[in-house]
Amino acid sequence: MSDPFFRPVSGFDLPRFAGVPTFMRLPYVPPGHPRFGEVQIGLVGAPWDSGTTNRPGARHGPRQLRDASTMIRAEHPVSRIRPFEAASCADLGDVGPNPASIPDTLERFDAYFARLQETGIRPLMAGGDHLCSLPVLRSLAAPGPLGMIHFDSHTDLFHSYFGGEMFTHGTPFRRAVEESLLDPRRVIQIGLRGTMYDHEDMDFAKSVGIRTVRIEELFARGIEDVMAEAREIVGTKPLYVSYDIDFVDPAFAPGTGTPEVGGPDSFQALEVCRHLAGLDIRGADLVEVSPPFDQGGATAFLGASIMFELLCAMAG
Ligand code: MN
Ligand code: MN
Repeated sequence: MSDPFFRPVSGFDLPRFAGVPTFMRLPYVPPGHPRFGEVQIGLVGAPWDSGTTNRPGARHGPRQLRDASTMIRAEHPVSRIRPFEAASCADLGDVGPNPASIPDTLERFDAYFARLQETGIRPLMAGGDHLCSLPVLRSLAAPGPLGMIHFDSHTDLFHSYFGGEMFTHGTPFRRAVEESLLDPRRVIQIGLRGTMYDHEDMDFAKSVGIRTVRIEELFARGIEDVMAEAREIVGTKPLYVSYDIDFVDPAFAPGTGTPEVGGPDSFQALEVCRHLAGLDIRGADLVEVSPPFDQGGATAFLGASIMFELLCAMAG
């Protein structure tokens, strides 16, 4: 059981619409806080979208996700997991980017997430665009390559963009394989769809043994069957879970930069996470929520709800 200090403010002590918003109403425990070393799972914002190649705005994601996440309550409705009692969770604040420089930001993020790894804090990162996942993987793979379950419309496995840009939100997992952060034979990507520039990314996936599941296969076989295969692929060893909100159909999650129609609904978006229970999840993320395209805030609320599902899988 976690120390009561790390429990969220109850909606019965202060209504959920009141107060300064932190992720899920958790205490704010940034690096340097006297209790930083006691945090087991750190919810952290990565307000950076300089890797975006299409519509921007994900840099505003963490702030809106924090606001929407104040709606989250204490207990999972199906598993009955109470994550804030199972692990000491806190809002670590945001990792600060340099919005004018991709290389400098990656260095800052590398140092930040390495510190979490050294402190023993498992990160649940809220993006930001998908390039934000690379420094998290770099920190978590220090002891050895990880498996990964990746929900996305896109593989994010491209070699480069615009004639040689290596660090974009379309390339993080190509870099992660090259840097031996991921064991490609323990990686599965689920939900792929949309028109394509070409199939260079898919050829790469095949060449290194990454399992790709297109949306047609997910709908034909069903979530339970595909997630059973995902669990088999990652096995009992450490893994990362990366969740791009554009995995979800834009009817349910319009607030993102690169939407693709013909995807899962909001129930299915949660359901896939419920098959992660019991896996050795060393870190997770929810990325690509772009508030400027999120009229009404539905995407951020779904994103915060997915973060709660991921948190339950990590804490349970
Ligand atoms: Mn992505
Ligand atoms: Mn995507």
